[in-house]
Amino acid sequence: MRMGIAVILAILLMSSALSKTGAQEGEETPIGCQLSFDGDIANQSVQFQTGLGPRLPGSAASSELRESIKSNLSGWHITESTHHVNGMVLTNLFATWNKGAGSTVMFAAHYDTRHKGDLDWNESMRDKPIDGANDGASGVAVLIELARHIPSMNLTHEVTLFFTDGEDQGEYSNASSWILGARAWADNLTTSEADNIESFILVDMIGDSDLTLRKTKPGNSSLWNRTENKIRYLDEVCNYGETTYFDFEKYDSIIDDHVPADELGIPAIDIIDTRYGEGASFLGGHWHTHNDTADKVSADSLQKIGYILESGLKTGSWLNIRVQENTELEEQEQVEENDNEEHDETSGLEADEMFIGVLLICCTLLVWGNLAWRIFADNRGEG
Ligand SMILES: [Zn+2]
Repeated sequence: MRMGIAVILAILLMSSALSKTGAQEGEETPIGCQLSFDGDIANQSVQFQTGLGPRLPGSAASSELRESIKSNLSGWHITESTHHVNGMVLTNLFATWNKGAGSTVMFAAHYDTRHKGDLDWNESMRDKPIDGANDGASGVAVLIELARHIPSMNLTHEVTLFFTDGEDQGEYSNASSWILGARAWADNLTTSEADNIESFILVDMIGDSDLTLRKTKPGNSSLWNRTENKIRYLDEVCNYGETTYFDFEKYDSIIDDHVPADELGIPAIDIIDTRYGEGASFLGGHWHTHNDTADKVSADSLQKIGYILESGLKTGSWLNIRVQENTELEEQEQVEENDNEEHDETSGLEADEMFIGVLLICCTLLVWGNLAWRIFADNRGEG
């Protein structure tokens, strides 16, 4: 009997020691630091996509790319929507994980490429379609590689990957000629569908080997704060490289596929490198030129963006943005209310002080008046 108790005690002690070791091991890797995104695999996708040729809306290359994306996303709920806009046939592609779970985190990237390299130095090349390695393929590559890891994350909400068409076929003089696929999607979204989207994160031109990012407008400030915190966390807590590629103090204004979502009140941001190439100016460099080729894109840059999105999913960074905003708003209203109350109290004090002052003056006048009356009466011999 004693022997049995001793054995049980020994087993209990051992299992408790083992579970402690497990906990310590878990503590060694902080939450959101164990990441699987592979920048090299994403970079291979960039090469594959540019190898298909320009992915103009309605082209064979465009259709081939969609088929490839779908074959990469087996087990995902796939839908497509077709829209006829400005003489083009646009096809938006959606892939959802955990379909029906609600609370959608949406990651978006345009998969079409520009029909002309109209900012190329070589005038004779300006009407020819571009490779779109960074401007198109990089965002798609990040989404496909991220998708490979999402099924093993045990997420309890929906994640939708939105591959937009017709983003890059516009004219600079006409703002409404861009972002046609995203615009068509937003136009057909019901209020409840929009309300179900927790956040909309667009990635565009994020493969530049000389990655330089800033925050962009329009963009949800809470979602930008979450992104900034995530980048700092990856550096300071997870020890994944540095944060110097992101200038948190500066903003660029940009029309991109996140705008229609932002206009519907969905928390949305656009992670985009608007200075493509070393020393490039805003929307200069290789942007919309025939230099937008796969050799300008690096696995390292794709990796940085992939880690932000993956780690954010693992720590719930892309959820409850609206709740946080409402709380912030309520807190601000409460502060204002308190300020008003304090102000009222101050006015109350001021009124009290004034009343006491007037009372004191009255008393003084009464005393002096009385004295003066007596002196006057004495002088007249009355009394
Ligand atoms: Zn473009």
